[in-house]
Amino acid sequence: MSVSDRYAEVKRRVEEAAARSGRSADEVTLIAVTKTHPASEINEAIDAGATDIGENRVQEVLEKYDDVKPVRWHLIGHLQTNKVRQIIDKVVMIHSVDSLKLAREIDKRASAAGLKMDVLIEINSAMEETKSGIAAGDLRALAEEITAECASVRICGLMCIPPMAAEPEDSRPYFREARELFEEMKGWGLPEDRFAPTVLSMGMSGDFEVAIEEGATIVRVGSSIFGPRNYR
Ligand SMILES: *Cc1c(COP(=O)(O)O)cnc(C)c1O
Repeated sequence: MSVSDRYAEVKRRVEEAAARSGRSADEVTLIAVTKTHPASEINEAIDAGATDIGENRVQEVLEKYDDVKPVRWHLIGHLQTNKVRQIIDKVVMIHSVDSLKLAREIDKRASAAGLKMDVLIEINSAMEETKSGIAAGDLRALAEEITAECASVRICGLMCIPPMAAEPEDSRPYFREARELFEEMKGWGLPEDRFAPTVLSMGMSGDFEVAIEEGATIVRVGSSIFGPRNYR
């Protein structure tokens, strides 16, 4: 199957999962995750209707940026503070904020570029050592610190990556927990210009339908659209 066939197939599955859970398909944004794949394949997905793409690494955004048709870029992988400057005007959202230090750097660079950056806070659902993200219990304190200090950052919600699962259903408890946390955030009453929790980014190729059933507003799907990744 071609990239465009696979994109259409994933899109259809997104719509069906939304319908099954009594949600409108417009409530769920499909991000096509393009890491390791060349600009030509990304453009194929865009031609097939992709509006949003996700990259893990700053370097890959920079390498492909000029060759990819206009589209909304998301930074979904761990971000080092010393790379923020390079992508601040290229991405519409950073999904992986997990420290005040990183938020401060985003704030500084966004302010210098005259823009406001939408971010998600990454939750490390199972507190896996190999993953970034913060503990659920630290979320409120971090959100309060960021909103107090960072005028050019808007916290738009949460991102989570559950542990590698054998079955899609294995992810459900983690997605449910993230959803509950997300609902709690809405009652925190932090300043709306810096804190507007409307986005719940969760679900990948193996489990995006379960994530949609549990309330995801963004799913990040790579291999089901582009095939296996070739890491060099
Ligand atoms: C690679 C990646 C994805 C997509 O994974 P697939 O299993 O290929 O769909 C989603 N989110 C993040 C953060 C990733 O790094």
